[in-house]
Amino acid sequence: MQTSSCLLEEGDEMAAANDDSVYAGPTNGVRAVTNASAIINLDHGDPTMFESFWRRIGEKGTIVIPGWQTMSYFSDATKLCWFLEPDFAHEVRRLHGLVGNAVVEERHVIVGTGSTQLFQAALYALSPPDASEPMSVVSAVPYYSSYPSVTDYLRSGLFRWSGDAHAFKGETYIELVCSPNNPDGTIKEAVLKSKFGKTIHDLAYYWPQYTAIVGTADHDIMLFTVSKSTGHAGTRLGWALVKDRDVAKKMVKFIELNTIGVSKDSQLRAAKILKVVSDGYELPNPDGMDKLFDFGRRLMAARWERLHEAVKASGFFSLPEFSSGFCMFFKERTATYPAFAWLKCEKEEIRDCEGFLKEHNILTRSGKHFGVASEFVRVSMLDRDENFDLFVKRISSLGSSHLSQKV
Ligand code: PMP
Repeated sequence: MQTSSCLLEEGDEMAAANDDSVYAGPTNGVRAVTNASAIINLDHGDPTMFESFWRRIGEKGTIVIPGWQTMSYFSDATKLCWFLEPDFAHEVRRLHGLVGNAVVEERHVIVGTGSTQLFQAALYALSPPDASEPMSVVSAVPYYSSYPSVTDYLRSGLFRWSGDAHAFKGETYIELVCSPNNPDGTIKEAVLKSKFGKTIHDLAYYWPQYTAIVGTADHDIMLFTVSKSTGHAGTRLGWALVKDRDVAKKMVKFIELNTIGVSKDSQLRAAKILKVVSDGYELPNPDGMDKLFDFGRRLMAARWERLHEAVKASGFFSLPEFSSGFCMFFKERTATYPAFAWLKCEKEEIRDCEGFLKEHNILTRSGKHFGVASEFVRVSMLDRDENFDLFVKRISSLGSSHLSQKV
């Protein structure tokens, strides 16, 4: 069982059990670490850094749902995706049109409870129901740690996890392509090319705050989520853009069997959130309100600069290098600022980087959950400012604290 790569794990218990930790931030009931020796949990990609943006947006991002609304199971029973709220579908298409990151024309929009549900719906839709063997599901290393666990947790007879796409031998498979990639931020393409193979493109991070939008993605199945585009992970809403009608129908069937549709309340909220993002760019802005992708990009640029300095000061780690690209959205060359830092420990004597950082009360996710060696760790870059500040300070001082421990 891959329990350690699930969303809520060890780290959460540790954070709760640490009596010395001092927390602040009672405004929303969420605790942010303030103490210098407290545990900093950057294991999950929880996108809380976006909270400050949405706080400033205030009322404009608020919706009120009267008690009588959104009661029916159905949104439009005549449509292929009968539980898709028209306002949400409209704002999805509008936002892609604005950003230019994915083709929406002649595509079915399917809503899911997070892109996690859509990923499973796509596996269900692409696996033949009567095959003698389960369909092999692969992804090139390092792959998102949830892919193996979500694929296999129900021991389906339809599909099963088959590991690194580079090592796969065979003609029939489903390849998961995550681009920009979680965990290492690289731009990826499918590595397998068989005409019997299928691909699912997970484009959760193909947004201008993370990477240059260099082209309009045009794949058979593309997955997106508000978790990483706007930061609303708790709304649990994702969408798929699907070319083939039969595949789209099967994905809808899966969601019908799995959860009889998707929360309409969440869809209305997400529609509002996406509308605010698009309005920010498309409507006059007399008050000079900040715009989401500008905010995200500015913050990520500052964080990456600070992380690079801290990593250099520590002398322990290396980070991948990224090239810049011409961003069609910002209409200028922009650098790459991934949502995760993929740290490699360069000290011979430290093979378990996650364990080493844990000794310093920094919780990260080991490379072994992503199909690679444990000298790598994945660190979330999307946490609140207080936690990120503590993290870079602690990383910078690692060199001196390690030396003083040895003396
Ligand atoms: N795909 C990738 C690559 C992710 O990083 C994540 C979130 N960590 C997801 C999918 C899941 O997104 P959601 O919250 O919409 O289920």
